[in-house]
Amino acid sequence: MKKKDEPIRVNRPTLEPFSAYAPLFKNSIESGILTTGTYCAEFEKRAAAYLGVTYCVAVSSCTAGLMLVLKGLGLKGEVIMPSFTYMATGHPILWNGLTPVFAEVDPRTYTLDPASVERLITKKTSAIIATHVYGVPCDVKKLQRIARRRGLRLVYDAAHAFGSSVDGVRVGNFGDAEVFSLSPVKVLTAAEGGIVATNNKALADVVRLGRNYGDDGSGDAPFAGLSARFSELHAAIGLRSLDAFEKNLKRRRAKAAYLTAGLQKIEPRLIFQAVPKGIETTDYNFVVRLDPNVLGYTRDALKEFLERKGIATRKYFYPALHQQRAYKKYKPRIPLPVTEHIADTALALPMYSHITNRDLDRVLGAFREFTSTLRQ
Ligand SMILES: *Cc1c(COP(=O)(O)O)cnc(C)c1O
Repeated sequence: MKKKDEPIRVNRPTLEPFSAYAPLFKNSIESGILTTGTYCAEFEKRAAAYLGVTYCVAVSSCTAGLMLVLKGLGLKGEVIMPSFTYMATGHPILWNGLTPVFAEVDPRTYTLDPASVERLITKKTSAIIATHVYGVPCDVKKLQRIARRRGLRLVYDAAHAFGSSVDGVRVGNFGDAEVFSLSPVKVLTAAEGGIVATNNKALADVVRLGRNYGDDGSGDAPFAGLSARFSELHAAIGLRSLDAFEKNLKRRRAKAAYLTAGLQKIEPRLIFQAVPKGIETTDYNFVVRLDPNVLGYTRDALKEFLERKGIATRKYFYPALHQQRAYKKYKPRIPLPVTEHIADTALALPMYSHITNRDLDRVLGAFREFTSTLRQ
């Protein structure tokens, strides 16, 4: 009997054999130092060296990192942000009692549109938060110019972009701070965790204090921090992920190029994210857009077909933030047709560093079958 094909998941963590982690786990258990110890410090140092940034503070998640950065910057009033992003970009704004103001994104790169940001600035605006989408960095130069000219803080959700760069400068160096995620399927993982990268010492100090309740040892907390430390066990996984990072990133990029070429051969009218000149992406998510007006079928029809073939996909990001219940109160001040169109047409296909070419061929084969079924 022919062995049944395993389902293909949309995302998987790429890990090392257990033996790679075991000595570090052993040390940390035997020493009794379980959190923010030497592995955490080493991880921060190596991440900072890789990114070329002065300070990296490891925290329990990207979300917690963003919460602490917004707190540390002492923001008030309104924060301009994209609606086309993951919910975790917006939640820290709400937790800090700030008001999200939704701007449009660029129809080609899906990142925050600087012209739209400019139009939404009011006397109440204190910051801009932007997401590097699927690994493609925002227009960091234009956003920086706007922030500087208008006296605004600029923070990036860099959850997808560890390893991305703009004109040779790695993401991590832009704005007041950039926050990475180390959750399981991100390009760099520590099982869970986040990194706040900044060149601002005062901000790094506040985040460092804030990840540990804001407890400065005086017993007299200067502000309400979080319990958001980075454990030694997570740091151990993070260190081994850093060892393998370049190799895994290269593999991921090669897999993405292979899938792109195969899909374009089958359906040249698929829309791919634009990667502007001078930009290196991580290919974190492999997202294609299916415009039903051009193709005659919807993204959802393809999603269902692939699901029946055991191939998982994800509508990502969908729904957009302004369409979610938690954000109902924050009605967009401008229409967001580009955001809504992208959210309605984007589909993430399986992509991770160790996906096999055989599985990618199964994805391509299923897509070919889908398009030929339609033609009959
Ligand atoms: C994964 C992700 C996050 C959340 O990261 P955590 O480390 O789980 O908090 C935030 N923003 C984006 C864009 C993400 O993809």
